[in-house]
Amino acid sequence: MSKTVAEPKSGRAPREPEPAAGLVPGKAVYFFGDGRAEGNARMRDLLGGKGAGLAEMMNAGVPVPPGYTITTEACRLFFESGGRLPGSVAREEDAMLARLERLLGRRLGDPENPLLLSVRSGAPVSMPGMMDTILNLGLNSATVEGLATKTRSARFAFDSYRRFVQMFSDVVLGVPRARLEAELTAAKKKARAKADVELDEKTLRALVRRLLSVVREETGQDFPEDARVQLAQARDAVFRSWHTDRAEHYRRLNGIPDTFGTAVNVQAMVFGNLGARSATGVGFTRDPSTGEPRFYGEYLMNAQGEDVVAGIRTPHPIAQMERELPEAFAELKAITERLERHYRDVQDFEFTIEEGRLFMLQTRRAARTGIAALRIAVDMVDEGLLSKREALERVEPDQLDQVLHPVLDSTARKRHARLAKGLPASPGAAAGAIVFTSEEAVERGRKERVILVRAETSPDDIAGMHAAAGILTATGGMTSHAAVVARGMGKCCVAGCTELQIDEAKRTLKIAGRMFREGTFLSLDGSTGEVLEGDVPTTDSEVVRVLTGRLKPTQAPLFERFERLMAWCDEVRRLRVRANADVPRDAQIARSLGAEGIGLCRTEHMFFAADRIPHVVTMILNAKEARQARLRIARIEEELAGASASERPGLKQELARAKKEGGASMRDFDGALAKLLPLQRADFKGLFLAMEGTPVTIRTLDPPLHEFLPKREHLLAELQGLRRSAKADPRRQQIERTLARVEELHEFNPMLGFRGCRLGILHPEITRMQARAIFEAAAQVAKSGLPVRPEIMIPLVGDKEELRRQRAEVETVAQDVMRRLQTTIPYTIGTMIEIPRAAVLADEIAAHADFFSFGTNDLTQMTFGFSRDDCGRFLPEYVDAGILPGDPFVSLDTRGVGVLIQRACFAGRRAKPGLKIGVCGEHGGDPASIAFFEQTGLDYVSCSPFRVPVARLAAARAALSRT
Ligand code: ADP
Ligand code: MG
Ligand code: MG
Repeated sequence: MSKTVAEPKSGRAPREPEPAAGLVPGKAVYFFGDGRAEGNARMRDLLGGKGAGLAEMMNAGVPVPPGYTITTEACRLFFESGGRLPGSVAREEDAMLARLERLLGRRLGDPENPLLLSVRSGAPVSMPGMMDTILNLGLNSATVEGLATKTRSARFAFDSYRRFVQMFSDVVLGVPRARLEAELTAAKKKARAKADVELDEKTLRALVRRLLSVVREETGQDFPEDARVQLAQARDAVFRSWHTDRAEHYRRLNGIPDTFGTAVNVQAMVFGNLGARSATGVGFTRDPSTGEPRFYGEYLMNAQGEDVVAGIRTPHPIAQMERELPEAFAELKAITERLERHYRDVQDFEFTIEEGRLFMLQTRRAARTGIAALRIAVDMVDEGLLSKREALERVEPDQLDQVLHPVLDSTARKRHARLAKGLPASPGAAAGAIVFTSEEAVERGRKERVILVRAETSPDDIAGMHAAAGILTATGGMTSHAAVVARGMGKCCVAGCTELQIDEAKRTLKIAGRMFREGTFLSLDGSTGEVLEGDVPTTDSEVVRVLTGRLKPTQAPLFERFERLMAWCDEVRRLRVRANADVPRDAQIARSLGAEGIGLCRTEHMFFAADRIPHVVTMILNAKEARQARLRIARIEEELAGASASERPGLKQELARAKKEGGASMRDFDGALAKLLPLQRADFKGLFLAMEGTPVTIRTLDPPLHEFLPKREHLLAELQGLRRSAKADPRRQQIERTLARVEELHEFNPMLGFRGCRLGILHPEITRMQARAIFEAAAQVAKSGLPVRPEIMIPLVGDKEELRRQRAEVETVAQDVMRRLQTTIPYTIGTMIEIPRAAVLADEIAAHADFFSFGTNDLTQMTFGFSRDDCGRFLPEYVDAGILPGDPFVSLDTRGVGVLIQRACFAGRRAKPGLKIGVCGEHGGDPASIAFFEQTGLDYVSCSPFRVPVARLAAARAALSRT
């Protein structure tokens, strides 16, 4: 059999002079071949990830078929010229093609000795949604015969031709994939073949004819015969695929700039479908799911391209290749190990074996689960491949979320039938209603947890995968689209579950004879691949079980690595990390995850407990009357003090009346506060103890008052029922009174209403009660010899006067408690900066504050004028339309809100040097926002307990990126 391999002609003339390796200004096409490449791994932005990887491998002496890369810069020129490649670039490409033809001694479109090409997209960052690769380009009615003669395998030639026509028609000509697939299915059926490998030459010839006529029917034109036209069309289609909806959607989700552009790789073909000693496959240098250091992958004999990942035939585990193709296996293992050491990172590689000879077709940094990322980073430090600092750069903060992910409850799961077992493609656990399309997942996913069930996912399913709690597929292996994308998303996935029979049209799923309709609940275990019936409850992960004392650290290797990585974070980070926690249980979790204090305790959350609500309601219902009575009494007493003898009796009478009339509400109001005091005191004591002397920031009441009261509609309905009862019915009176207060408290714009310190200003008794509870709790802790550091935080301050007054109330109580209980408690009083006016007047406010804490949720809301609760109607559209780069409630708007923060920090610290400043909004747990807070010089961030490890890592990485 003659050579088809991409091998240089032997006995060739002396080497052509090569341009110097590296970046050449204005150069649009970079060559790789004959052991040398013009590009290298550092040229990702220009050559795309794939092109840079091919060049680097070529330079490292790895066997790679030769070819050339058209740059991302050329992609930009392509769009600037209205979707055409500028003539200068096209000429450069022609020259490179000629060079490739010379190197291989074959020509594109030559019927005697045809050169066949693959055309491959390749953006600077790996990106599903880009154009699919086209293989075997250059085949037409003449060259296919030439190929058949040269290889003495007409079957092989027509198999390649069939593949080419199918791929090209689909991705370049836009012929519906289903129609093309239907022809293949029909041919297989007719030939009684289970798989495409069983089709003989005759069948394949007929199939190609059918495909070509489908193209004519669908497009009204003939399939291009001219190989150069094929090449130009394929190349342009790759460029254009940069702007497909799929690609744009993916970029938006992942914050990839639209300006990057994609490169195009044109490469000589090597053939994995050339018979029984040929194969194609993919693999990883370590397990991308667990991080375990074992050679890992899948391959198919006598196959081409994406057969392995497309789930057409079930691929074999790579270990089996050691028996079938021992030499190629040994070489593959050696090369990929070398690549891992070279890149000092786990590689995801693609290869093809042509008649026993190995060719590498791609290598890239392997996507991995959070668990794998953690294990690999720590292991590679131990192996001496990485420094600790580099290890921190290898784990994305958000990935740590997965280490804390829930798993299916091991007891509860026993009560649920195990329906099937697929591959454990992405760990974690999920339960949800099954849906069969991406659209349905998005739709239904708004209201409930869903599991997306597909034969196999494709880039069209990205939105649905995002919306789903878990993903379940019938075909495809550990390296299938579903598996790779789910791992990247940190989402639980069970793939290749062959027992599933999916009927997308009828929206049913059959497993082992049982029928499940859309909406039925199933549960997935992404770590074992099991599919269970019903809604199985989830439990805490290994790390969380250790932290809560339910598992010994020695039995938890993942926990041990987690702790080490966290310790490395703490060596380098400057920002402190605190947690937002309201109850001792959350505080304990936060502490065990490394929180260095509480940055926000929302006291109103404590008020919601069942034993408190009645007192809170009484407090609210009487607050207004009690205040009016107090004001009236104070006014009369003042008048009395300056009154003449004749006026006094009248005033005294009036005073007595005022006391009598206001007595009930004042008593009820004060009584409610008195009931709440010991409850709050116990809460605070629990928090102080849990936080072991670290600072605990307690915010005074910041309630939407109406949330505590019964709903207006409910009261009206109950009143309706009591209509016939006597007017004097006490229940009826009570409801009427509550209803009146509910209506009175109704606000047209509660977010800008009677909130925050405004409440404490009008009803200082509430602030005093809370201060008392805090200091008495602190005193109890201090007396038992333990350290305690309360920080009292006044919310929603817009003017210094508000803070001054509330501060005075707190200080009076603090002095009183400390004197009475004979202790000293180190405490501070500060404020939240969450109203733009406060940020602007930060210097004035700082005069009365020991600390600032930016409440970035409200600050964002008020700076944009976007209601947090209503912006869902338009904000996504804003982001889609590119008006905003992202949701400012998720990642801080550094250009607007961020500038307010910077100025407030500067002004605050100028007025009060050393002013402590932190953040307690949602942004305190967002890595991008944390980077900004690091740059701005904040002292700490505070986030929800389970985000603490994420914030520690993000803070460490932010600190490292500054050095
Ligand atoms: P993707 O970006 O989807 O990974 P690739 O460009 O890597 O697409 O191509 C997919 C597959 O096509 C490769 O894994 C390989 O099997 C096959 N392929 C690509 N180029 C060649 C080639 N020059 N020779 C043989 N097979 C190729
Ligand atoms: Mg692909
Ligand atoms: Mg690939």
